[in-house]
Amino acid sequence: MNRTLVIALGGNALGQTPEAQRAAVRAAAARIADLVQAGNRVVLTHGNGPQVGIIHLAFDLADAADPQIPTMPFPECTAMSQGYIGWHLQGALSDALRARGAACAVATVVTQVVVDPADPAFRHPSKPVGLFYPEAEAMRIAAAHGQAFIEDAGRGWRRVVPSPEPVDIVEAESIRTLVAAGSLVVACGGGGVPVCRNPETGSLAGMDAVIDKDKAAARLAMLVGADRLVILTTVPFAALDYRTPAQRWIPRMTVSEARRFCAEGHFAEGSMLPKVQAGIAFASSGAGRETVIAHLEDAGKAVSGAAGTRIVPDGAT
Ligand code: ADP
Ligand code: MG
Repeated sequence: MNRTLVIALGGNALGQTPEAQRAAVRAAAARIADLVQAGNRVVLTHGNGPQVGIIHLAFDLADAADPQIPTMPFPECTAMSQGYIGWHLQGALSDALRARGAACAVATVVTQVVVDPADPAFRHPSKPVGLFYPEAEAMRIAAAHGQAFIEDAGRGWRRVVPSPEPVDIVEAESIRTLVAAGSLVVACGGGGVPVCRNPETGSLAGMDAVIDKDKAAARLAMLVGADRLVILTTVPFAALDYRTPAQRWIPRMTVSEARRFCAEGHFAEGSMLPKVQAGIAFASSGAGRETVIAHLEDAGKAVSGAAGTRIVPDGAT
């Protein structure tokens, strides 16, 4: 089946150290190369939560030890994580494709995602990032750098950044060109580098924010005209009544059913909810579009509809 797939890999499945990441990426690359060998076009995106946290933290610690070393703004950290994760993916995918006799060009695009400066998320920063501080120290940094902090689950005070909605992908045309030429493209890593456009000059500036990678993946899938959005994670299905005695896996839900389950609170915010919301956005964006949420190990079966949670348009058969 010749389909265009946008595949989203969870950042939590990529490991915490460069060595762990190289091994995790090799395993993911094997599943993705199988899909390319089967005749699918693939655009790959990935999370970066643990990785961007480590990069940000490293600069914070270096700055604390030696004030001549700067702290690193979030958009810069996201761009670094896209390059570092993309480089590992390029190597592992190229090797896995060659081993299957399916070699093709593999390229990572440092991707900027436009957000709206009027997005209410900018007034309510919600995503905790970086180091834990005692309250007094957090207040000092907050005042000195104009940053927001919250108390994070009894563990200390942490910086919070906004998590705005992705509006547009700046490099969409470049990504489409590469895909049309037969390249396997890695794009929108970590949800993309959040940017706002200056209405007078048209130039783009980085924003201190983190875009949800599942929501960015849905936009990417729409902008490349994908047939399937495939969200690969660490659970085999989305579940109703997750982690209760009544838990049951969902093999298939229509967009309307998915909206109802979201409203009923079945999916945790910050983990499964954004995946289902992304799935709804993509499956309701055009005819023939479907989303599947599945375990990385089941990627092949998920694409053929035999594993994972499918989100299908209302009225689909
Ligand atoms: P990723 O790095 O792939 O984005 P996340 O940790 O953000 O992974 O999301 C996957 C997690 O969502 C699972 O490990 C699971 O614990 C959690 N989760 C929350 N609610 C549900 C649910 N209703 N069904 C299945 N998993 C759920
Ligand atoms: Mg996640």
